[in-house]
Amino acid sequence: MAPDKPLNHVLVVGGGTAGWLAACHLARVGNAADGGLQVTLVESPDIPTIGVGEGTVPLIRESLRNLGISETDFIRECDVTFKQGIRFVDWMKPRGSGENYYHHIFDLIPRSAPDPVPYWLLDSQGRSFVDSVSIQGRVCDAGLGPKLMTQPEYAGVSNYAYHLDAGKFADFLMRHATEKLGVKLLRANVTGVEKDPAGFIDGVQTDRAGYLQADLFVDCTGFRALLLGDAMKVGFVDKGHQLFADTALAVQVPYPSADTPIPCSTRSTAVDHGWIWDIGLTGRRGVGHVYSSAHSAHDEAETLLRRYVGDERGELAVRRIPMRIGHRERFWDKNCVAIGLSQGFVEPLEATGILVYDVTSQLLAELLPVVRDGLGPASGRFNAVVQNAWERVVDFIKLHYFISDREDTAFWKDNRDPASAPPSLVEQLEAWQQRVPNQYDFPGKFDIFNLDNYQYVLYGMHFPTEIGGAGHRFPHAAAARAAGEALNKRAEMALERLLPHRALIERIRTHG
Ligand code: FAD
Repeated sequence: MAPDKPLNHVLVVGGGTAGWLAACHLARVGNAADGGLQVTLVESPDIPTIGVGEGTVPLIRESLRNLGISETDFIRECDVTFKQGIRFVDWMKPRGSGENYYHHIFDLIPRSAPDPVPYWLLDSQGRSFVDSVSIQGRVCDAGLGPKLMTQPEYAGVSNYAYHLDAGKFADFLMRHATEKLGVKLLRANVTGVEKDPAGFIDGVQTDRAGYLQADLFVDCTGFRALLLGDAMKVGFVDKGHQLFADTALAVQVPYPSADTPIPCSTRSTAVDHGWIWDIGLTGRRGVGHVYSSAHSAHDEAETLLRRYVGDERGELAVRRIPMRIGHRERFWDKNCVAIGLSQGFVEPLEATGILVYDVTSQLLAELLPVVRDGLGPASGRFNAVVQNAWERVVDFIKLHYFISDREDTAFWKDNRDPASAPPSLVEQLEAWQQRVPNQYDFPGKFDIFNLDNYQYVLYGMHFPTEIGGAGHRFPHAAAARAAGEALNKRAEMALERLLPHRALIERIRTHG
């Protein structure tokens, strides 16, 4: 029997955030220096990256650390600020009330002594859900950062993620990949894809780097999906009937002065036909309006965004970005894998883009077979995990709309139509009217969003779980109250010790 052909060269096509994340993770396991995997990335010198994607979730800390990246360098070079959660404004009626709640505040809910959630449901004592289970809402309200200068990199008093400049982040990862991890960079346009008789990709034609062959091809060409979509003809599963927002308008807004406080959470304000993100970086805000083009004219959406940022005179440059909502039917076909917008995308309400691309890059690196015969089993596992991840992401994003009580426009009414919700979500919500969501509702390790995330959104939005009749099952009310008081003390101590967010960032940038 002929020996299996080794799999030792990967070509990543596309140099956006997804391409560089994939290249870094592959190069780290690949160990090219030991004669192992060689990773090459080819990116177009002419086609720009999408240039948005400024919010992340805490898992990115683990990823950056595993890639050998210094948090201080990252903060200095990518205009990074800290993100401790998302503040949702006007997602519930009455419209314009400013009603808001944090989710998902990133601190995990303490589950011992005892789990505070049912006790809050039985008797909230007039406190918001977030303040009953975490100190972090109070830290954000006070405008404080999540960590002390004495703490090591990637550690904090509270759990945190980052806001970052998308273009600078891709460049930063590129330098790390090429200078530290041995990734080879080519700048050329891919102009064609050649397949062998078995349908595997043999190589790609380029306009200035010749014909590039490899054993595995990673499609990171963004919404174009040049390899997995165009060449491999893997279809697209459109989710626009469940998640209506299909267009974004993005604008960069200068701060009024160099010492303007920087919020430590993303602000997400629900508006007539979508919502507005508002992110504070070190030198500017990144603001965008995500909306449904079936419900709103583009001009109307732009006027709304300009009013939000106080630019009625139209001086700031607004960029319109069409968004294709959904995911591929498969994510790994033969010797071609999609990572990034080419794999799938939903509106950035919970910063799922970088998260899913990061997690699936690591998954690819771990499943990568050493010989070509291993491609079939590896792709089967990859496809099952990634399919589940996207389905759960759609459930979670839809949740925010489906349980909102807003009905002031057709956009909000249509979003509450059960026919527009995934059956898996409707089923869960029915169960959660009678009992508190628990860990068994989230059995998958790669569910992306799980118990804490759901509870923050559900109870931040006043979802009715009726457990009054089962009060006898929760006999530890005194212990729950004592734990609540201990939490309040922790909050007071944190408020005394933590620095204002901008001051923390400036100290890290100056002193490291
Ligand atoms: P791109 O950035 O589009 O990169 C594509 C790459 O492919 C480029 O380098 C291009 O040059 C190359 N390319 C294309 N064609 C060719 C060719 N023929 N030959 C060679 N190279 C080629 N994610 C988050 O996590 N948080 C957020 O807050 C967030 N906000 C978002 C807001 C909006 C409006 C949108 C649309 C997305 C948002 N995302 C967010 C997702 C985020 O943008 C992506 O995670 C991220 O930028 C990855 O994009 P990409 O690398 O897949 O594609």
